[in-house]
Amino acid sequence: MEKEIIVTTSWDDGYKSDLKLARLLKKYRIRGTFYISPKNREFRKEDLLSDAEIIRLNRDFEIGAHTMTHPRLTKISEKEAFNEIMDSKKYLEKLLGEEIRCFCYPGGEYNEKIIELVRKAGFSYSRTMEKFEFKLAENLLLSGTALETHRNSLLTLPVDSLKILSISRFHLLEFIKNLNWEYLAKKTFDEVEEHGDVYHLWGHSWVIEKGNEWEKLERVLSYISGKINVKYCTNYDIFKATK
Ligand SMILES: [Zn+2]
Repeated sequence: MEKEIIVTTSWDDGYKSDLKLARLLKKYRIRGTFYISPKNREFRKEDLLSDAEIIRLNRDFEIGAHTMTHPRLTKISEKEAFNEIMDSKKYLEKLLGEEIRCFCYPGGEYNEKIIELVRKAGFSYSRTMEKFEFKLAENLLLSGTALETHRNSLLTLPVDSLKILSISRFHLLEFIKNLNWEYLAKKTFDEVEEHGDVYHLWGHSWVIEKGNEWEKLERVLSYISGKINVKYCTNYDIFKATK
């Protein structure tokens, strides 16, 4: 029997260009979750998705919470952190009229206390920014990813990835090729296709926009789409799959 492979994607922050991204995902029938900070302070209000646009996005994709204003949760008080987490859940639930089950830590920052607050707020799944994780997390509030659609630097490409990708630091050319996220995204997908498990691609539409990397993203989406042995899922579908 063929091994089952799960492909999921997630996109953070609630920036306007999420709409363009959603059109691309739809074109390739790739599912996923948009993590939205409704009052994200890192962007101008007019650059964020409007409520009507969030409602529209929710027709084809899952909406997850990403705090109200996008603070680093470990840097604020416990009370403020809980309000940020809970208020984003309530805001989106009121807007969409359905339960919001997935959360994503802004800036990938969390600690034991923050994980507990996310659990207390009632989330079933929470995504970190850990990469090169291809197995279902034991604790779904600490779910990692395969790769970010963003340039990898020598500093951020962890040594573990060298093992996973069966390359050696001494193969300089191979190592350098892995700094290109398109190459790495396809290569890690090939590995998952061969061995099974989960392929979770994530990123930010504003980063794609800023780097003018839409064509690159489209090539990757095209590469991972339309596979018979792959189940294309939202992030919450992963939680359901474990029940
Ligand atoms: Zn974010």
